[in-house]
Amino acid sequence: MDDVRQCQTINRAQSHLLIRLTGAYRTTPVEALQVATATLPLHLQVKKLDAMYWIKKKNNEKVTRILHTPVDKQDVQEILTKAWQHLWQECPKARRLYGIIPDVEITGGLLHFLTDHGPFRQKLKDMNIVEDNLCHAFGSVATPEHVMLKCEETENLVGEQRTLLEDMEIAEALRTPELAIVLQEITQKVTEYYRKKFISGGDRGQARRRPDADQ
Ligand SMILES: [Zn+2]
Repeated sequence: MDDVRQCQTINRAQSHLLIRLTGAYRTTPVEALQVATATLPLHLQVKKLDAMYWIKKKNNEKVTRILHTPVDKQDVQEILTKAWQHLWQECPKARRLYGIIPDVEITGGLLHFLTDHGPFRQKLKDMNIVEDNLCHAFGSVATPEHVMLKCEETENLVGEQRTLLEDMEIAEALRTPELAIVLQEITQKVTEYYRKKFISGGDRGQARRRPDADQ
């Protein structure tokens, strides 16, 4: 999967899908669509599946051949994100978008915020993953707006950036390039915070198995 032509063919297939999903023009570079929708390039997704399979089989030799370094499960995402970041930096296309979103990871959090599908207990309750929709530390309903823009739990992390968006409509912030970047940074940091919290089990006490998980 390191063959450049092979990668291009695979990513062209992904391009059709992303163009249909986003309604973008057919001429939009796939690299731009991947970054804007926080979608890992398809050839890296294939690598990921491949690597995960061999890690499970405890075959280090194969894993090393795929990722060029022997790793365990937790590191795979990080290595592939780095590979994606490198491709985005070197990519000759979509340089204006690169100027706005230089970090491939940054849209993930914003996408969570805008689509509702993220580390928000209101959403998780809907999906029957947690018992209630409250932000436990302070008892408010954990909506995307609360979690990203108000919650005191992450005040130390993003408080300073939040003050820049005070009393501002989200749509307006998104139309203002400097503030759109602030919003991206906040949503990314908060998403990352909750991702780590879930991984370390910090929020697992309140989580419960989905009722259909046994079948
Ligand atoms: Zn809160």
